[in-house]
Amino acid sequence: MRAMRENDLHQHIFSRNTSLPERVTLGPGDDMGGVRIDGGQVLVTVDQLADGVHVDLRHTPLEKVGRKAITRNLSDVAAMAAVPVAAVVAVSLPRDFGEARANTLFDVMRDTASHYDCPLIGGDISMWDHPLLIAVTILARPPASGRCLGRQGARVGDVICVTGWLGGSLHALEGRVHHLDFEPRLRTAWALAEADPPPTAMIDLSDGLASDLARLCGASGVGAELWADRLPISPAARAASEHDGRAPWVHAVADGEDYELCFALPTAGAGPSLPGEIEGVPITAVGQVTAAGNGPRLTLRRPDGQVEALSESGWEHRGS
Ligand SMILES: [Mg+2]
Repeated sequence: MRAMRENDLHQHIFSRNTSLPERVTLGPGDDMGGVRIDGGQVLVTVDQLADGVHVDLRHTPLEKVGRKAITRNLSDVAAMAAVPVAAVVAVSLPRDFGEARANTLFDVMRDTASHYDCPLIGGDISMWDHPLLIAVTILARPPASGRCLGRQGARVGDVICVTGWLGGSLHALEGRVHHLDFEPRLRTAWALAEADPPPTAMIDLSDGLASDLARLCGASGVGAELWADRLPISPAARAASEHDGRAPWVHAVADGEDYELCFALPTAGAGPSLPGEIEGVPITAVGQVTAAGNGPRLTLRRPDGQVEALSESGWEHRGS
């Protein structure tokens, strides 16, 4: 049997979006879903954190696991420039997990959620014979501007920007591991939603720039060219590069779990006036939106000037 591909399953689900009732403002296929209730829009997202898949409890302090369960979802809230309102959490605990550790886990999730003004207001606990599984649901509202930023809307000629630094999220550097310690970019997202002009489309980087930009482009019906020599390469990506010999820019394009924002910004006249930084977070132009055409949706201009195709499902490493 052919291995199931997550992207194929997504396509199957998204293709059935046409019959949704009118109150649905955002159907499957974005970082959050949305419904209109009594005239106001409510956004919702759910994410799972599984031991052995997203974290490894053998090597990761429980405090970091609890934090990530919340911050990972908050990154999806940031991707829409939405404002978190409340969270609920369902946890399946291994039978031998122990009461003290369970208490620690719930304390950290509650404190992290509170820190982002997203109180934990309920949930469900069960015991089972499998590794720890945490499912967090967050409710949110639109930003002050009233306009959420989705994946659709990028236009040919828009500049593609990212926040922060990319790559090496699994590589420990100076006691920090980005995929556990990252800051969800909520404040930067809210500022972007208020910007003039605001981004035409936005997504958060959970699976890697190549994969997630392909999703934004797919939703917008456009293509994109990335500029390898413009990528903001994280110190951890450079360290990872020394470790495994892959070029630092390959890490920046391919590594997952950056939890940064990637957005398309309209070019005004001669060129975009990039803010440089927002809320202390650097903003870097890393490419441009192109027409979808018949060729590959995503291309990458390498530091040596060569242009190559990027796979829709992510980076296919070809020996650089
Ligand atoms: Mg996301």
